[in-house]
Parts: sequence; C-alpha cells; structure tokens
Amino acid sequence: MSIGDLDTLAAQVRGEVLQQNDEGYDASRAVWNGMIDRRPGAIVRCTGVADVIATVNFAREKHLPLAIKAGGHNVSGKAVCDDGIVIDLSPMNNVHVDPDARRARAGAGAKWGAFDHEAQAFGLTTTGGVVSSTGVAGLTLGGGIGYLTRTYGLACDNLLSVDLVTADGRLVRASESENPDLFWALRGGGGNFGVVTSLEFQLHEVGPMVATATVFHAIQDAREVLNFYRTFNEAAPDELACYAMIVNAPEGLPDQDGKPVLALVGLYSGDLEEGKRLLAPLAKQGSPLLAVVDGMPYAVMQTAFDAGNPHGARYYWKSQYLKGLDDALLETILKWAGTFTGEHTIIGIEALGGAQARVDPGATAFVHRDVPYSLGIWTGWQNPADDTANIAWTREFFDAVAPFGAGAYVNYLGEDESDRLGEVYGENYTRLVEIKRKWDPDNLFRLNHNIA
Ligand SMILES: Cc1cc2nc3c(=O)[nH]c(=O)nc-3n(C[C@H](O)[C@H](O)[C@H](O)COP(=O)(O)OP(=O)(O)OC[C@H]3O[C@@H](n4cnc5c(N)ncnc54)[C@H](O)[C@@H]3O)c2cc1C
Repeated sequence: MSIGDLDTLAAQVRGEVLQQNDEGYDASRAVWNGMIDRRPGAIVRCTGVADVIATVNFAREKHLPLAIKAGGHNVSGKAVCDDGIVIDLSPMNNVHVDPDARRARAGAGAKWGAFDHEAQAFGLTTTGGVVSSTGVAGLTLGGGIGYLTRTYGLACDNLLSVDLVTADGRLVRASESENPDLFWALRGGGGNFGVVTSLEFQLHEVGPMVATATVFHAIQDAREVLNFYRTFNEAAPDELACYAMIVNAPEGLPDQDGKPVLALVGLYSGDLEEGKRLLAPLAKQGSPLLAVVDGMPYAVMQTAFDAGNPHGARYYWKSQYLKGLDDALLETILKWAGTFTGEHTIIGIEALGGAQARVDPGATAFVHRDVPYSLGIWTGWQNPADDTANIAWTREFFDAVAPFGAGAYVNYLGEDESDRLGEVYGENYTRLVEIKRKWDPDNLFRLNHNIA
C-alpha cells in the first residue's frame, strides 16, 4: 500500500486515515486483550456509511486484508490486522431511541454503556452484555448473552433490522422482510457478511431500578452453594438470571486475601419488590462472607463487572455450553479452582434458558437454543512472563471439562479456536456457507471466525 494510495483513500473519506507514527494510531489499533499487538497499514476512523463504502471498495480493489473494529472487545483480537486496513467504527456511536415505538437504532461503534444510558432515560432497554465497554455490534452479531436473555432472548433475537455495506460496496438493509437470508445469517453469524453500520432493536420496559443480588462465599463452601445454585435456577422464573463466578476475592472481604471466592450475581428484570423476594434465598444460603439483595439502577448493574476486566491486560479464554451442572463437572471445576491463577481470572457459569430456548434452532444462525448453562474459563493477568503458565492452565482445565460440553459460542472463541465453528453452528453451518457464497463470494470479510 503506497502513500499515494492512502492519499487517494483519505480524499474519499471524512474520518481520519491513521498510519504508523500518526497521533491516535496506537490508541486506535489497541484492543481489549493486551496479548494482541497488530500494526495495520492504515486505520480508517469511519464517521458514516460513506466512509465505510469508500474503505470497503479500496480494500477490495487493492486486495488488502480488511478487519472490522467496533467495541474492540473480542478476545481473539480479530478486529485488527497486520499490514492491511482496519475499519474503526468507534466514531459511529450514536444511539437513537424512539420511546413511543420502543425501538432504538445504534450506530455500529456504540457500546452497551451508551446504549443503556440512552434507553434507560425512558425506562427501556434490550438484552445486552454485562460489561459496559463491550461493543453493541460485535456482541449482537455473534448472539448476545446478558441478564435479560432468559426474559427477552439473545441480543440478536431483539434485532429488527441491520444496515450493512456488502463486499461490492452497496448499502443494504436486512430484516424479516428485506434480504431475509442475510438477516438470518447476521443473527449469530458474526462479521462474515459485510460491515454493519447500524442495528435497530426492539426495546422492553426494564428498570430503571431492578432487584439485584451480590453474594460472596468462601471457596471451601462452594460445593454446597453450587448445589443450591443448581436447584435455585431450576425453579427460577424467566425474569430471574443468576451467574455463579469464581473470582479473586475483592478488597474488603474478611480473611480472603489472595484467595478465590465464589460469587453469585443475580438480577430480576420485573417488579422490584417481587424481585427482592425471589432473590432473597440467595443471601440466606450457607454462611456468606457478604450478601446484598436490594434495588439498583439497571444501568449501574450493567457496569458492575467493568473494573474486573481491565482494558489492556493479558487474556486467554476457553469456554463451552453445558448440558447441565453435573456433580462430576462441579467437582472438576472446584479442583481447578484449587490452582486458580491470574489477577483478572473469572471462572463463570451463566444460566441460560427461558426465552432463548423458545426460539427454533433453525430460526436464526444461532443454533444453541436449549443449553441451560455456559461455562467460561476467562483467564486474565498482567505480567507477560506468566503467559505460558496461564495459557497451559486454561487449556488443561478446559480439557478436563470438555466431556461435559454442549457446543461453543462464537463470541467467546479465542484466536486459536476457529476450528470450533462446527461446534458453534452445528446443523446451521451449511446454510451459513450458502449465504456467505452469495454475499461475499471472494471472502473479503475473512478476518473473523471465518465461514470460508
Ligand atoms: C469483558 C468482556 C465482557 C463480555 N461480556 C459478554 C456478555 O455479557 N455477553 C456476551 O454475549 N458476550 C460478552 N463478551 C463477548 C463479546 O460478545 C465479544 O467479545 C464481541 O465480539 C465483542 O464485540 P465488540 O464489538 O466489542 O468487539 P470487536 O472486537 O470490535 O469485534 C469483534 C468481531 O465482530 C465483528 N464485527 C464487529 N463489529 C462489526 C460490524 N459493525 N460489522 C461486521 N462485523 C463486525 C468483526 O469480525 C470483529 O472482529 C464479553 C467480552 C469481554 C471482553
């Protein structure tokens, strides 16, 4: 890519075209996972659809690798590339809410914090991720799990339409009535089909105050508490979501310095008082180190995990859906909790089911509808000298729990896991290949978990 070529591109776009040594280049090429250190030939900070069209055409005509960056949160770091072009969508971060129609249209660079901020002004929102700096686009295109999944389905189940720039540089809309094949593929198929420029969502009445539970237990009590957690979830209504997580003890917990603890985190998305009543048993089980069940603004709850996942730390993830919470699985998880490693590590169990499970597996590209839980081994640390040991710990732990697996979630796949796409898409994979052939026959959009 010559300087002259980039001058031509810069003349066609309104946003900045950043090259090495330009101010802002390093900030723009950085992603959440500090293990990823890529140097694109140019980063185009797109300000609108016209910039995206010009950049897609440029990359196609010059045969350049093209990466798409929205929130930059994907652990695989595929949002950035070496040498080629990165479309940085972060300037396109507007969220427009229509409270009467209960709809919101988010620019592809918007993050969940911005989305909830705008929608909660009207007591509305939709299913989103549980960390406010995660991108709306990347999360939704892969599916989108959050506290509201059991009530309102995945983030992608709440999509009404998507605007997208195709490989041949056209702006198209995908919805149930326009380009329905593309709309099917975009709900779970990730960034394989074009550059999404905005996403329109159905909103629901949630909050602004919701009932939440935050409970910590010493790790030696975890077995008993996880047994209770399993039974509690079996009886829980759809409006109630509860995650179980093994994390490093937060400051202030008595006698837990340097030890992992078990956290139960719950949210009820319906009536506040009913939610407090239904969440109360979480605080009464065993002898918690700390237990709070109370009302909290939904938008605040959506930032509760932000500090535990610092931007730029080193991360290595392995995850899978679970058939259930077998005794033998819980024993295996607790065995590995005994060798817990990494300052930012989370062993996370997300309770699914409810509305997600009521959608037909063939209705969208997202096939895993009836899985009750997801297990994440989300290892995080600061010192590069710990890379080898922490990656080995994660892989060995994952090998030990793999027999309990029931498929994989594309948004949690690491850089080295593109060979798990069969596990991600199952019987829907063949249709995804057909739709990929139609919309991106030359695989311009290949820097992703690629449907080749
Ligand atoms: C701290 C943390 C918390 C998380 N919490 C949750 C959670 O609660 N629920 C959940 O489901 N997931 C969660 N995730 C996973 C998350 O869904 C994925 O990492 C997702 O890919 C992030 O989207 P992004 O836009 O931030 O990422 P990016 O890295 O910018 O994008 C990821 C990929 O998506 C594609 N893509 C992004 N935007 C576009 C676009 N506009 N057009 C076409 N393709 C695009 C590209 O292929 C890109 O490489 C979490 C991740 C992290 C790091």
